[in-house]
Amino acid sequence: MESGRRWCHTSDVEEMATEETWYALPPEDVLEAVGSSPRGLDESEARKRLQRYGPNLLAESAAPGLWRVVVRQFASPLIYILLAAVVVTLVLGHVLDAGVIAAVLALNAAVGSFQERRAESAVRALMALVVPRARVVRNGHECEIDGRDLVVGDIVLLESGASVPADLRLLVANGLRVDESTLTGESVPVDKQTAPVPIETLLADRRSMTFTGTTVGSGRGRGVVVATGEQSQLGSIAQLVRAGGVERTPLQDRMDRFARQIGIGVGIACVVAFISGVALGGSANDMFLTAVALAVAAIPEGLPVAFTVTMALGVHRMARRHAVIRRLPAVETLGSTTVIGSDKTGTLTQNRMTVTRIWTPSAAFVRDGDAPDAGFRSQDAVVEGDETGLSLLREALTAAVLTNEAHVLHSMDGWASVGDPTEVALLFAAIGAGIEPSDLVEAHPVLAEIPFESHRRYSATVCEDPQDSRHVMWVKGAPEAVVAMCSAMHTRAGQAPIDRDSILTEARDMAAQGLRVLATARRSLDHRVQRGSELAPPDALVLTGLHGMIDPPRLGVREAIDACEQAGITVMMITGDHQVTARAIATELGLGANHVEVLTGADLAEIDDDELSERLTACRVFARVAPEDKLRIVTVLRDRGEVVAVTGDGVNDAPALRAADIGIAMGASGTDVAREASDMVLTDDDFVSIIAAVEEGRVTFDNVRKVTFFLVSTAVATILAIVGSVWAQWPLVMGPIQLLWLNLVTNGVQDVALAFEPGEPDALRRRPRPRREGVLSRTLWQRAVLAGAVMATGTLMMFRWELDRSGSVPQAQSVALTTMVVAMAFHAGNSRAERTSVVRVSPVSNRFLLIASVAALGVHALALMWPPTQYLLSVEPLDMAAWIRLVPVAALVLVAVECDKALRRRRSRLSTHDCSGGPSTTLSKDHRRRSR
Ligand code: ADP
Ligand code: MG
Repeated sequence: MESGRRWCHTSDVEEMATEETWYALPPEDVLEAVGSSPRGLDESEARKRLQRYGPNLLAESAAPGLWRVVVRQFASPLIYILLAAVVVTLVLGHVLDAGVIAAVLALNAAVGSFQERRAESAVRALMALVVPRARVVRNGHECEIDGRDLVVGDIVLLESGASVPADLRLLVANGLRVDESTLTGESVPVDKQTAPVPIETLLADRRSMTFTGTTVGSGRGRGVVVATGEQSQLGSIAQLVRAGGVERTPLQDRMDRFARQIGIGVGIACVVAFISGVALGGSANDMFLTAVALAVAAIPEGLPVAFTVTMALGVHRMARRHAVIRRLPAVETLGSTTVIGSDKTGTLTQNRMTVTRIWTPSAAFVRDGDAPDAGFRSQDAVVEGDETGLSLLREALTAAVLTNEAHVLHSMDGWASVGDPTEVALLFAAIGAGIEPSDLVEAHPVLAEIPFESHRRYSATVCEDPQDSRHVMWVKGAPEAVVAMCSAMHTRAGQAPIDRDSILTEARDMAAQGLRVLATARRSLDHRVQRGSELAPPDALVLTGLHGMIDPPRLGVREAIDACEQAGITVMMITGDHQVTARAIATELGLGANHVEVLTGADLAEIDDDELSERLTACRVFARVAPEDKLRIVTVLRDRGEVVAVTGDGVNDAPALRAADIGIAMGASGTDVAREASDMVLTDDDFVSIIAAVEEGRVTFDNVRKVTFFLVSTAVATILAIVGSVWAQWPLVMGPIQLLWLNLVTNGVQDVALAFEPGEPDALRRRPRPRREGVLSRTLWQRAVLAGAVMATGTLMMFRWELDRSGSVPQAQSVALTTMVVAMAFHAGNSRAERTSVVRVSPVSNRFLLIASVAALGVHALALMWPPTQYLLSVEPLDMAAWIRLVPVAALVLVAVECDKALRRRRSRLSTHDCSGGPSTTLSKDHRRRSR
């Protein structure tokens, strides 16, 4: 390396950025060139570099341009009709009408674009909440940092499931296989190594490097950062679309279809009204105005905007409750979820493991106290002075430390740890037994290892040994896995033939207390092991101990599981842990009443999908399952018509997460691969947050429904009023401009405000909404017609009365319009609750709606008095008497809908008495039939 190229002497980034031959250089040269060492950078240097060269970020995929959003506002059959109306009104010479309709369309587009952009950027910001973290070595210590803070020269640790955070030149590769399909399109994972490769090697074969955005399939690795952010290989692929993004949802498609149907219906109705009106002898001009009025009245212009706002608010509320939505459709699917398949460790439990019991073939030990570094005492005898007893304990824990990838540090403010909680617990146990993990590791340099992978269920290392001239293999893992590889056990008297039964019985007893059990073993090897060589699966091991750790259930999970039952959602535990441990925890959590049926991975292998489907009605707990089993469970459940949410954290969970309706990844402890495959990420890993998200999903859907209901009833009311006045051969009850005023200015504010409804108290006491159910249920359609009819009748009555009294059409229209405006304010109250009486809903629980309604009334009252709006809207001021007359008439809609709600509540109490009681019969036959 010539010194000019070295980091320390390089002043411009460009030169660094074009340095692309790292793969052809030996690791030491690369380290030197980037001014780093195996101990990593120190914090101050890292900070300096970060400031100088910027964060490790790729440019966001650009949000759609403003003009596209604006154009999109017009791309709707509803708007086409209004555009056509503008053209024809203009041709017929009604310049004012045409101008106003056009202006309102423009206003609608402006508001729509603004709301949509804002909602979209808010959703994007929320999706970006889950930033990848990177495990690095700085100052010689392992720590976890925000992936954006990586700089050239950082030493990064890679493990299975991690997404490579920057371009790395590998220093260590241990069984490291990386999926580079994001970069090269090649789906076969690439085996990585550390030796330089020739300079002419193409990107896909640069096996001494790993690249940003690719994912580790298995193994472990360590590399030095040579390029970050835009300088990385990924950064140079400009067109690459980043994960996430704002997708269309099925509901949105359904709404569009709905809009198209309304559009076509309205179009036909207008033509028919026009032709028949003329045929009946009306003037073409009048009939045309009527048709335009009809179109304006029937079209819910505000719907798209209100929908967007409601969804964005849903995403926001979920994020506040620790559920970050990655794919927008999840918001509505959550509301229909019928089964939640949850991991045990970390989701149902705290993932705060503590070793409480260690068993060795000659003595058993229990923990003395709760402190992380608490000591052990022998269960049967005093350990004081029992040196052999203590040595047994230490021997067992030595294996746990030497196969350990976690780290603990004692600092000023107590203990800090990095790594898997299971491993951290073992390190603390070792400390409690008087072992200093870092010293032990230093004395036993690791030569080769088999890193822990979920499917293997054990990890192993071969280390040099200060006492034994031979190399020693250390193993820890699931008891069945380890015992199967053992041929002897370590006792007080030395080595004894293995007694598999008593060991497994002991393991089972520990598991029955809800403990997670790991076994440890060792073996002195007869041969010498090459540094970094690949290890064959261990055998002929000597068992040294069993380690039982508690992992207490999370607070509130029991209650959340109860809540799920009430909400008609089945909760299943799907875990890699032992069936006995799983059963103990399930019982503690109240999963599956008195008798907990457990299916294991082995059981699953023996039954076919039909039988599995049958067993799924009763079984709530799956133990010792592999990720493929999880995928199978999800698939079978979905085939039965269930809407399945499933959690996952490992690399191999990705297929199950994708297959599920809602894939839920762990934000705190999960792997990047799982997160990328998911629809939703829990920032706190807590099961309770899942049910919170379900609740918000239901509330969001309810709010979409409330907004739609409100707008549809408005449309029905105005259509009926117009048709009524035409039919009675009266003057037109409201002109097109007045109807636009009604649609956009007054109720356009209230509909958006309905999106802020906090949700009805029974959101989690109803069964899940069938997925195919339309936006409006039959009840709501009926109610919309009822409310529309009442409002239309009241309006027509007031119109007629005023016309007879004053003989002035503008005066009568003013009264009619005002009656409608006031009725809408009442009806917005009606729309707040589907089942609950409005008097039970706090008027201030949705402040926005209250403000919107008052503002709408205020603006309307002002418009009646201000000459310019009087002219535009052809309205006249109303006297007090007129107001006093119309308010009670407008309030009739409140009375009518209240009666409807009361009647329906009464009827549903009578008919569904049987299923409103105890917990729903989850996954019952009736359920299955319904979902077909
Ligand atoms: P879970 O964490 O749900 O139990 P995993 O797939 O992570 O499932 O682990 C499977 C099994 O492997 C565990 O039940 C345990 O017996 C064993 N195991 C877990 N973590 C480790 C580890 N770090 N080292 C060795 N064995 C482990
Ligand atoms: Mg695990």
